[in-house]
Formats: sequence, structure tokens, C-alpha cells
Amino acid sequence: MHPGGAAPPSGHAGATGYAAPIDPRDVRGSIRRSVTEVVERRSLAGAADAPYVAALAEWGRAVIEQRGGPLERSVRSIMSRLPLILFAIDEQGRFTLSFGGALDRLGLRDDEVVGLPVTLFGPDAEHHLRRALRGEPSLFEARGRVGTEPWVLEVTVVPVPGQGIVAIAVDVTGRRQAEEVAAERARQADEALADLRGSEERFRLLATNVPVGIFQVDADGRFTYANPALAQILGRGIDEIVGREWLSFVHPDDLGRANQLIEAGPEPGQPVVFEHRALRADGTYRWVRSRAGVMFDGEGNPVGAVGSAVDVTEALAAAEQLREREERTRAILESAAEGIITMDGDGVVVEFNAAAERIFGYDSSEAIGMPGTELVAEDRRVGLRRQYEERLRDGPTAQGVREETLARRKDGSLVPVEVTVAPVPTSRGTLYTAVVHDISERRAFEQQLEHQATHDALTGLPNRALLMAELEAALSRANRRRSSVGVLFVQIDRLKLVTDTLGHRAGDQLVVETARRLEEVVGDAGIVTRFGSDQFVVLCDDLDDVAEAVEYATKILDVVDQPYRVGHEEAFLTATIGIAFAVLGLSTAETMLSNADVAMFRAKERGTQRYEVFDADMRSWIDARRKLEIALRHGLERGEFELYYQPIVSIGGRRVVGLEALARWNHPLLGLLPPSEFISVAEESGLIVPLGEVLLEQACQRLAGWQRTRPELFVSVNLSGRQLARAELVGEVRAALDRAGAPPDRLHLEITETVLLRDVEAAVRRLGSLRDTGVGLCLDDFGTGYSSLTYLTRFPIDTIKVDRSFVSQLGAATRDSTVVTMIVGMAHTLQLDVIAEGVETEAHLRALEDLDCPMAQGYLFAKPMPAAAVEDLL
Ligand code: C2E
Ligand code: CA
Ligand code: CA
Repeated sequence: MHPGGAAPPSGHAGATGYAAPIDPRDVRGSIRRSVTEVVERRSLAGAADAPYVAALAEWGRAVIEQRGGPLERSVRSIMSRLPLILFAIDEQGRFTLSFGGALDRLGLRDDEVVGLPVTLFGPDAEHHLRRALRGEPSLFEARGRVGTEPWVLEVTVVPVPGQGIVAIAVDVTGRRQAEEVAAERARQADEALADLRGSEERFRLLATNVPVGIFQVDADGRFTYANPALAQILGRGIDEIVGREWLSFVHPDDLGRANQLIEAGPEPGQPVVFEHRALRADGTYRWVRSRAGVMFDGEGNPVGAVGSAVDVTEALAAAEQLREREERTRAILESAAEGIITMDGDGVVVEFNAAAERIFGYDSSEAIGMPGTELVAEDRRVGLRRQYEERLRDGPTAQGVREETLARRKDGSLVPVEVTVAPVPTSRGTLYTAVVHDISERRAFEQQLEHQATHDALTGLPNRALLMAELEAALSRANRRRSSVGVLFVQIDRLKLVTDTLGHRAGDQLVVETARRLEEVVGDAGIVTRFGSDQFVVLCDDLDDVAEAVEYATKILDVVDQPYRVGHEEAFLTATIGIAFAVLGLSTAETMLSNADVAMFRAKERGTQRYEVFDADMRSWIDARRKLEIALRHGLERGEFELYYQPIVSIGGRRVVGLEALARWNHPLLGLLPPSEFISVAEESGLIVPLGEVLLEQACQRLAGWQRTRPELFVSVNLSGRQLARAELVGEVRAALDRAGAPPDRLHLEITETVLLRDVEAAVRRLGSLRDTGVGLCLDDFGTGYSSLTYLTRFPIDTIKVDRSFVSQLGAATRDSTVVTMIVGMAHTLQLDVIAEGVETEAHLRALEDLDCPMAQGYLFAKPMPAAAVEDLL
């Protein structure tokens, strides 16, 4: 119903009023407009135009590609709340996946259609889907019915190369229904009004029957005619309407607008359209959309109006509902972590979501209207659009173009982003959607990972991998500058010993402290890297000659030698360093490192706390060692090792009381080799373990044989550190004795002091269990190591062997004879046996006799000899 202004009714004008401007399409249009407005602005409901469809398709593709992953779960959960369905269809045209809130509408449950063919969508749909399978994205509407309930889906299909297609269906049932109802009513009104022109009677007939309210008002705005449909809309009888002012049916909240309309007055020739809430007799109201043609008298004064009124309550509610859903969808998309930017065909931004605002620092109001290229770092702008266009043209369209680039924020700063640009064909031409993902965190994470991969976790120093890269770089720099590079291979000695005694935390502290000290020495002149648990490699760049590298080595030896504080304890470390100096144009990182390693090895061989500079001879030395190791292995297989025995004599009785077993190698080419030629290589290669076993077995067999004639005779066998470190040793000793049938107390095991001091606690334990087997334990080379008398009381030993270097001084009045005096005296006190080794002269013997030393061994009595010779001697 509509204001007719203040003019009285007029029959003539009335006819014009009926005939003219009631355009039924407009009724439909108005409803549609209220929807399409939402469609265009809110986007999602107008699936075809929605840039989000690209984003959704993107999700769909990601879900297919990461089937069963966490992404699928979260997309499913989001989709279940939206009036959408996501379908995936394989290349054979069968559904592989379906989910989303709109499945209900089809009376289906998630994934219920999986395995079924696409014909489920009808023949048209099949056609579209087949087209999509050929790589063309497509949009169509699918309609159907579940029982009596119709449904309408707007389906966008997007090909996923190699995987089939993704279809996004938007439930537009409500929208379509609202549109159709409105269209139907409008059509009916149209017909009715067309007929009215002919006959008043037919008018009345029709007016009484059309479902559209038809009315006439006079110049005062009072109803002069109302048809049954209007009476129904207003919930009153026709007689309750006619004669009353139309304004009295207007909801109080809409009166303001109604009065404005009246004030403005009608415009000749133009229909007046008004939408308002109409009050019903029962106090409820309906939304009514009315449209009226105003009638004028001869002077142009309005005399009344005729018009139609349609109840649009349902349609508006449907539209409202739709709008709400869209808003929810929108909210979800707005809360998406990805920036979503839509650009028109000219590359101008037309849409900019909240995430994009966050990423770029622009408000959407600022960003809209800007050329999209301005969002990219300056140096990447040139030719950007052309590049994209080309790539989009060449590549599979729906997949879009993805790349990592630098985005430029409003404040000018740059952020790394991943951008996927995809074209979105719409009725307004092709739009481009850019999905922008801020990857600065990922970058930071990648950088962190890279740091972890190239640095040592404990010290933060560069690791081996980074060292190699740095060394290569330093070498090529040096070649250009005609300077050189030095590599210092720093082995920290005794670190394991300290770790074993003070614990791993302490060990770690020492490593960190050592790293710090090395860095202090090297400063900016080079790089300190951690190479192994107790190894550092120092790279010194831009050196003029090897003396500079040596200078660093000396300083390093010095700083490592300074005491370390660990809690309340003090610890002492030493270093051994190998130096390699680059030969311009020849050295590679690989060879330099291995040369430095060889030099370190050589330095170690010559004692601790020293450095060696690599030279070519070392290479041949190390090669020789390697060959020796191979020969040793073969020799062991062929049984080329044999024990010689050297008598141990009681000084008082001048008779043989024991025999020290000493290894010899019957080398097929080199003849008989002494231990100095092979024991150290055997130790380093670990071959000492099997070799030691073979020798122990031999010694026990001999011991058992000699027992028959000389039951008091003992045999002494030398053990290396490697052997002692193995827990199996105790069992092996016992087994060897058992097999030979030799008495345990007649077997003595000789261990050097330095071996025991490497790990005191472990040594005390191991010696304890050896001792439990009944064998005798002898501390060899006593006096050469740390001579720590304190330890002496802790080790369960029964004999000490005074080293040859002290014995050889006996007779001469030197300090060393005092050492022997002290050792022998102390051994007496601790009730230990003493053997003096290396007794070569009568003078030695007499001196030992004076000191009350009980036993002696040396060339004066006999050299080591084969077992057969021992038998003659006994
Ligand atoms: P060691 O245990 O101190 O053995 C004593 C060494 O002194 C032996 O050298 C012996 O031949 C030598 N010697 C004995 N009396 C005299 C003397 O009056 N004057 C001089 N100048 N030397 C004398 P050898 O046999 O060459 O053994 C050298 C080292 O090799 C041994 O020193 C021992 O540490 C090691 N060794 C020998 N056999 C074995 C073995 O079976 N296992 C292990 N692990 N090490 C062994
Ligand atoms: Ca020995
Ligand atoms: Ca010795």
C-alpha cells in the first residue's frame, strides 16, 4: 500500500494508474536485489563471482593432496558449518570425497556418495564435470529434490591436474526459492493487471483472486478499495480497511520514512515504491512491499493512487538468513591466516581481507583501488603482471601460479610471502585472487634449522659441514689475494678422563670453556669450529707464512694448559695440534683437513702438548702405518705372533722366579720384529684385542707346561689399555687359565701406570675383579707417569716394576738413584713386591742388593728368548 499524496481519487486517473507502472519484474528484482547485493558484496553466495571459491578450491586441492592429514580434518570441520559442499571427483568421474554443511540438503551424509558416479548431479552436471576433467573450470547450477524438498546448488568445478577435480557446491536453495516465489507472484499480478485494462468486472474478478494485494486510496490517503489478498496480508476484513488511512497500518517504526515520502510528494510518471512493516489485527506485522501509481487531475494535482502490495516477509527472512550465513562464512574467511586479495583485470585491488591488512599494514579501504604491484618489493615489480599473465596462460589455470616473493608493507619494510595467484572468471570479466601467506616465521624457522645443521649445539661454534664450506671459500679467497690459509687440528687430551671423573656436565663445561679460549686466541683472524667431541679445528685466514699458524698453535697450547674451574674443582687439560698450511692453488679443503689430522696424529705420537706442521713425509709415514695395519691383520690370521720370555730373577737367591712374556712378530719378509714396531699400531687399530687374546692363550699354555717342573714359577703378561677397558677381559683371562689348566696365582698381569690413570675409578673396579680371579697384578714402568703414590694405595696391586730409566742410573750418584731408593722403601712399607727392570750391569745389581730390592730383570741375566730356550734354562 502506498501513499497517494493528498489528491482526491479520480476515475480517469485511476485507469492510468492500473495500466501503467506496476512492473512485476520489479517485485522479483527487489527481492533479487536484496540478495544480489549480498552476493556482490558478501561474495560467497554468488559462488561464481566469489574470489573465495578460488580459496576454497585451493583448500580442496590441498585436502586431496594431503588426504587423511590434519588439514583435511580442519577443513572438514570448517566446512561442516558452512552452507557448502566440497566434492572431489577422480579421473573416472567418481566421487572420492564429499563433505560440508549443505550435504544435509541433499539428504546425504559426509562421504556417502564416495564411489558413486557424477551422474548423481544429473546429465548436465555430468557434462560440466567431464569438461572440468578435461581441464576447464566450470560453473553450473544443479537442482534436485529430496522427497518434496527441492534443492539448488551452485557448483564450481576446478580441475586438479593428475587428481581429478574439486567441486565446490554452494547451497542456493533458499535464495532461488525466494526468487521464484516472488517471480510467480509478480507474474500473476502482471496477468491480472493486464486484464484489468479491459473490464472493471474482470478486474474485480481478478483482483479478488490474485494473491497480490491491490488497493486504491484517495487524496487523503484513505483506502477506497482493497482486494481480498490485501485483507489477508493485513489480517483484517476488507470493510475494516476501506475508509481508513493507509498510514494507520504502518508500523510506528516506519512512520518516519512514510512521512518523508509524503513530504517529498509524488513525481509525475514515476511509481512510488515503499517497503514497510504493516500492522495486522492480531498485533503482529508483515513486511510489505507496495508500489503505487499516483493519479492526477487536469491541473496536475494528485487525486489518489492505485497500487499493489506484496508480502515479502518470507523472502526478506530468507535473504536475511542468507546474509547471516554469508556473514559467518565471511568471518571465517576473514579470520583465515591467509591474506586474500582480489584484483580486477587491470591489476587493481578490489578486495582486501583482514589477514591481508595484517600482512601489509594497509587498511582495506586504503588498499582497495591500489595497483596490486605496489604490494610487492620494488625490484620485483618490473614485468610482474606480464610474467603472471604468461605463467597463468601456460600453466593449468585453476591451479594458479605459486611463488615465494617479498611483499612490501605500508611502512616500506619487506616480508617474505608465498603467493598463489589464480584467475577467477566472473560475469564482470576475469578477476585475480592472490592468496598471500606470510612465511617470515617459516623463514626464521628454516634459518634456525639451517643454523642447527651447521653449528654445534653445545658450543654454538660452526660444525664440520660449515667448516668445509668456509675452508673452500677461504682457499679461493687466498688464491686471489695470494695469501695462504692455515688449518689447526686441535685435539684436547684428557677430556674423557675428566668427564669420567667429574661427570658429563663438567665435561660439557670444559668443552664450552675451551671453545671460548680458542676463540679468544683466534679473534677475528679465523674461525674456530667444533669437529668432534674433543676436537676443534681452527681455520686461520689470510696468512703470509706458516710461522703465523705456528704462533696460533703455541698460544692455543698455552691457553688450554691454564687450569679450568669446574664448580669447586680444578681440572687440567692439554692439547695436541696438527697444522696444515695451504699450498697455493693446490690444496683442497679435504686434503688440508686430512693433512692437519695426520700432523696431529704425528704430534701425539711424539708426546702430548705439542704441535707438528704437516709435511709430505708424514703422508708416507701414515701410509706406512696403514700398510702395517693390514699386514698385522694378516699376520694375526696366519699366527705369526709369538711370545719370547725374559727371566725375572730373585736377587737374594740368584735364581729364576718368573718370566715376562714379550711379544714378537715373525714377519715373513722383515724377520723377527720387536713390539716397538707394531704394538702402537695394534693399539690404535684395536687389533691389540685379538692379538692380546692369542698371546694370553699362549702364555697360559706355557705356564701350565712349566708348572710340572717348576710349580713356583710365575709368568707375567703385558696388558694394554684397550684390553683393560673391556669388561670381557676378566672372563677371558679366567677361560684361558681354565683351558690350560694353569693356576691363577701364577699368572701376573702387567699394566702401566698411565693406562690406569686414564680412568681411575674404572681401573680400580676392573683391577678388583681381575684380582678376584686370583691373578697377580703388577704396575709396570713405575715412576715414568705421574708417579702418583696416592693412587698406588687405591689400586689392588701386588708388585711394582721400577722403570729401566731409573735402574740405569743406579751406581751413579744422581737424583734418580734416590728415586729408586724411595720406590723400594715405599714398596716395603706398602708390602708390595718390587722388580727392577733393565738391569744390565753388576753395578746395578749391587746397588739393588743394597736397597733390599727383591727381584730383577735385565740383559745382565738374560735377554727375552723363545719358549724352547726357556726350557733349557730351567
Ligand atoms: P716392557 O713391558 O717395559 O718390557 C720390557 C722391555 O724391556 C722389553 O722390550 C725387554 O726386551 C726390554 N728389556 C729387558 N731387559 C732389558 C735391558 O737390560 N736393557 C734394555 N735396554 N732393555 C731391556 P720389548 O720386548 O721390546 O718390549 C717393549 C715393550 O712392548 C714392553 O715394554 C711392553 O710395553 C710392550 N709389549 C711387549 N710385549 C707385549 C705384549 O704382549 N702386550 C702388550 N700390550 N705390550 C707388550
Ligand atoms: Ca712389562
Ligand atoms: Ca717396563
